[in-house]
Amino acid sequence: MELPEKLPTEPKGLLQTHELYKYILETNVYPREPEPLKDLRAVTSTHPWAVMGTAPDAGQMITMLLKLVGAKKTIEIGVFTGYSLLLTALTIPDNGKIVAIDVSREWYEVGRPVIEKAGVENKIEFIESLALPALDKMLENPENEGSFDYAFVDADKPNYINYHERLMKLLKVNGMVVYDNTLWFGSVAQPEDSVPEEFREGRIAGIEFNKALAADPRIEISMVPLGDGITICRRLY
Ligand code: SAH
Ligand code: CA
Repeated sequence: MELPEKLPTEPKGLLQTHELYKYILETNVYPREPEPLKDLRAVTSTHPWAVMGTAPDAGQMITMLLKLVGAKKTIEIGVFTGYSLLLTALTIPDNGKIVAIDVSREWYEVGRPVIEKAGVENKIEFIESLALPALDKMLENPENEGSFDYAFVDADKPNYINYHERLMKLLKVNGMVVYDNTLWFGSVAQPEDSVPEEFREGRIAGIEFNKALAADPRIEISMVPLGDGITICRRLY
């Protein structure tokens, strides 16, 4: 079939307003959000970096994906106070495991009492480290290769491409990795000079990373405009 010369580029009309986002959260997300995740949002709300917490609407979809793929052994890169970590811990089975990596333990400690109270701390192995050396260390153990069902990546954006290379080895074939913030507040589609200074580095990193994923034959991808944009990848071989 021949494609029309000019493909439609207009948005489909979804999420043109903040009211619509509020509507989604209030009708679909918050009423079904597990209590511990609400508590975690509450203890995070006064934190100066609270905005870094994973968007609950994205979290809701990740929860469903985790169940659909039956994820058991997982990796979390970028913990902060632990919203995405806790949703994973609540979702995987009792004998599931999460290797959670963050360069700082301080913020994890803010959320840890909530995680402990939810009774899922035993599934978490927290590694205080820069993510890249921690992943390389995991790869030194051949048992880790091709053994993970799922990874969530939400730390320093310029390193996403390096995390991706390691994850392609650590994930099982058919394993899933979700990259957060791949639309970087929409800046990836805006000209550089119209983007505030503090977004520019992330914008470049996002553009390069999105291009690299789109060209990577090892994965199937889907970029979903939830939260700040999440890209879901499935390892094909
Ligand atoms: N997923 C979290 C949000 C993560 S925010 C949530 O749902 O709340 C990003 C986190 O990445 C911060 O906690 C920061 O300490 C961590 N981080 C930044 N650079 C890092 C690096 N190079 N290695 C490991 N962690 C890093
Ligand atoms: Ca994020």
